[in-house]
Amino acid sequence: MELKKRLDAQQVLLVAVSKTQPIERISSLYEEGIRDFGENKAQELCSKHEALPKDIRWHFIGHLQKNKVKYIAPFVHLIHSVDSWELLQEISKQALKYHRTIDVLLQFHIAEEETKFGMEKEEALELLNQPPLPGVRICGVMGMASFSENTKQVKSEFEQLNTLFYQLKEAYFPNAPWFTIRSMGMSGDWELAVECGSNLVRIGSLLFGERTNKTK
Ligand SMILES: *Cc1c(COP(=O)(O)O)cnc(C)c1O
Repeated sequence: MELKKRLDAQQVLLVAVSKTQPIERISSLYEEGIRDFGENKAQELCSKHEALPKDIRWHFIGHLQKNKVKYIAPFVHLIHSVDSWELLQEISKQALKYHRTIDVLLQFHIAEEETKFGMEKEEALELLNQPPLPGVRICGVMGMASFSENTKQVKSEFEQLNTLFYQLKEAYFPNAPWFTIRSMGMSGDWELAVECGSNLVRIGSLLFGERTNKTK
């Protein structure tokens, strides 16, 4: 697949966002060599994990409620959307229950829009100043830029997140070789995100076509 080749060459991981897509569509991307898929609902993630090959790496990219962590904890590859200390504690608890270490990203609010989830820097620092939790490994940051035609605006949001990544790395993860991930960029803005330092893009509609329900 052309897009995957281009991203591989730049050492950017392509996560195919398969929310709302049927099993058959996901299977055909799997046949083309995609192994990383992203979902934003715990239940949908679980039923797709059941139905599809077990070497798929499942990414959770949506807002995660604490009471849903237990469903995805046995198999999830990376949770992109940690936005509170309480959620991280629950992930730790479930990880220990399943004898795993769960990799997570801290989600930041970088967009202009009020509606998007994610922490402000101060909240993240509070979380990072807590004693480290067993069973979870913080591997980087995630953010969604504004839905905007204003390239300068979007670029400055991505740059802001990239800078924050390096600040956190220096202050909290200087000896943590796993703290490497900048998850930013979607169908409409992934090229800009990569220019600004992204090394993981989450792409849905560009791969699958427009979702019929745009709100999901
Ligand atoms: C839906 C979604 C995407 C993919 O969006 P597209 O515009 O279809 O590429 C990426 N990230 C998150 C968090 C999403 O919810």
